[in-house]
Amino acid sequence: MPSVTVEDVADAGVVGAGGAGFPTHVKLAAQADTVLINAAECEPLLHKDKEVLREYADAVLEGTAAAVELVGADRAVVGVKEKYHEVIDLLRAKLPRNMDIAPLGDAYPAGDEFILVYDVLGRVVPPGGIPLNVGAVVLNVETAMNVSLAASRPVTEKYLTVGGAVAEPVTLRVPIGVTLAECVAAAGGPTIPDPNYMVGGLMMGYLEENHNALVDKTTGGVIVLGGDHVVVRRRRQDWQQIARIGRSACDQCSFCTELCPRWLLGHPVEPHRAMRSLGFNLVGEANVIGTAFCCECNLCSLISCPEGLDPKSVCTQNKQRLAAEKRPYENPPFNPRRPALHLENRKTPMARLMARLGLTEFSNVGSLRDTLLETGKVGIKLKQHTGVACEPAVAAGDRVTKGQPVGRRPVTDGKPVLGAPVHASIDGTVTAIGDGVVWIEKK
Ligand code: SF4
Ligand code: SF4
Repeated sequence: MPSVTVEDVADAGVVGAGGAGFPTHVKLAAQADTVLINAAECEPLLHKDKEVLREYADAVLEGTAAAVELVGADRAVVGVKEKYHEVIDLLRAKLPRNMDIAPLGDAYPAGDEFILVYDVLGRVVPPGGIPLNVGAVVLNVETAMNVSLAASRPVTEKYLTVGGAVAEPVTLRVPIGVTLAECVAAAGGPTIPDPNYMVGGLMMGYLEENHNALVDKTTGGVIVLGGDHVVVRRRRQDWQQIARIGRSACDQCSFCTELCPRWLLGHPVEPHRAMRSLGFNLVGEANVIGTAFCCECNLCSLISCPEGLDPKSVCTQNKQRLAAEKRPYENPPFNPRRPALHLENRKTPMARLMARLGLTEFSNVGSLRDTLLETGKVGIKLKQHTGVACEPAVAAGDRVTKGQPVGRRPVTDGKPVLGAPVHASIDGTVTAIGDGVVWIEKK
């Protein structure tokens, strides 16, 4: 009997601690030959994974060992940037025989799990596939730690970096359900008059206009930037304008495709063709099926295009349209030789990314402050994961204790649907339930 079971992981509400929050118990119910721990953390100014790995190496390795056992793997590999020598040395002293470290270059997007699988294992995940298709289960650092704790406590806390234009860039430990503004205040507050919050990273994250938005299980960081910063301006650009300028200004140089990490993996993603197709109809919509395989890394828009155009948004718009039209894709052809030919030479160095995005003025630090952030009120979202939203498991007026389930997975045909339960992150009273949030106050 393993120390942690798949049921423990499901009941504890463990989901991917970055990205879309895929329920971890589903991954751990599969069979794979390798577990990969993704500590690549390639979004500029984010330090959460490295800090958690340094501070909780034992728990991360315990969770990794549990994952190895559950999926029947032969081994695990931790992918971590080579520049973090001290973290690598710390881990090496603790690694069991069936685990190894893969030192990674300081490039973007090293943390894209398709790129990580290729860099570490030399395997190409097929277009539209998942790492499991090539025998790998990939877990984020914090997710592995949460797996190690699953038998004893559910997920009620989150680690996130607060950086950019704040007084004290820091990695915080917070109760799930605090506001982004509370986190920014805990980092000493903004140092600029018009703070804008980029959540989850500058490249793949989003601009959150509501500063009281709630931290959930997937919130990896908040970067504060001024309204005139290029990343903020690009996020606010109107789609009609993007399409109109793209249609008239794209010279089809193809740099966007030549540097696209998914194209370099051999996938059929060709952003220059998406740009070209903008001119093929009067409404200026793209129409290229390969956009379905764009991972929205934003390299083409923020780095590659010499004209400052936005092929990523063109791909995103087209992906959404293809999905709305339920246009299927089946086993698209891809070129498995391409990565061996080009990928290594065309990665984007982090130093170049920082310079191009105007980030060198900010302290690129985020040391962990391990004292749990104090708060009097939290809002627990009923959907913090891929799948179906939870049903409330409590009612207004109920007293709850930290760790108590406040949302449970709905059941269909006697089985819980894809999702993960959510739990109270503080002791208190449920004051309201509405708009998909359970509000709890210390009373
Ligand atoms: S890099 Fe820019 S100009 Fe060149 S093809 Fe792509 S979108 Fe067009
Ligand atoms: S955002 Fe651009 S560079 Fe990134 S995967 Fe999509 S098309 Fe390729």
